[in-house]
Amino acid sequence: CGIVGYTGKRPAQGILIQGLTRLEYRGYDSAGIAVQEGDSLAVIHRKGKVASLEHTLSHFDFQGTCGIGHTRWATHGKPSEANAHPHTSCGGHIAVVHNGIIENFAELREELEGRGHVFTSETDTEVVAHLLEEAYQGDLVAALRDACSRIVGAYGLAAVCDMEPGVIAVTRKDSPIVIGQGEDGAYVASDMIAMIDATRDVVILGDGEYARMTASGIEYTDEAGRAIEPRITHVDWDL
Ligand code: GLU
Repeated sequence: CGIVGYTGKRPAQGILIQGLTRLEYRGYDSAGIAVQEGDSLAVIHRKGKVASLEHTLSHFDFQGTCGIGHTRWATHGKPSEANAHPHTSCGGHIAVVHNGIIENFAELREELEGRGHVFTSETDTEVVAHLLEEAYQGDLVAALRDACSRIVGAYGLAAVCDMEPGVIAVTRKDSPIVIGQGEDGAYVASDMIAMIDATRDVVILGDGEYARMTASGIEYTDEAGRAIEPRITHVDWDL
C-alpha cells in the first residue's frame, strides 16, 4: 500500500516513520521498516498502526542512515506480524517492500521451495526476497532486474542489502514510485506526500525503470541496464 525509503546523512528511522505516518490516510493493516544497522539489516514489522511500530522502535533507536518502510494493505495472506513487510531472504541479507500483486507467486514459491528456500509468510511478496537472494552477485539493481524478469503482476518495489550498505534499489510496474533528492539524502515513496518536506523536485519513475539510490546520488537505468536521464517534476502545492 505505502512505500518509503531514505539513504543519506541522517538516521533513517525517524524519517521512515514520518513518511509512513504521511501515508496512513490511504489505509493499511500493518507496518514495518528495515534499516542498515552496522553490518546487518534490522527488520521490525508489526500488525496494526504506525504508532505501535514507532513505540517498538523507540526501544531500539537505530542510528543507521539507510532504510525502507512499508504500510501493508493485505492482498495475499491475512494481516499479521509475519505477513507485514519488509520481507527478507533466508539469510536475512536482503529486505524488500512491495506495493501491488505478484500474480505468478504460487508457481515461483513452489519452484523456490524446491530449491530449498524456506518461506516465513503467506504473502505473494516474499518470493521477491528469495529471487533477489538467488540473483544477487554484488549489484542489487542487477538482482532486482533479474527478479523482475521472473515476476508477473503490478509492483512498486524497494530493496536493501547488507552487503551493499547505503544502497536502495527501486523499480515499478503499474504502481506509483516517486524519487527525490533532498539536501541531506535521497528519498523514495509511493506518494510524493511522504517526502514533500525534503524536496519539491521529484522523479516519477516509469514502468520498467530502475533507480540505484545512495547518499551521494541517484542513478537511473532502463530494463537493459542502460543509463537514462531522469525527468524532474517540480511540485508547487502545499499540504
Ligand atoms: N500483495 C502484497 C501483500 O499482500 C502487498 C500489498 C500492498 O500493496 O500493501 O502483502
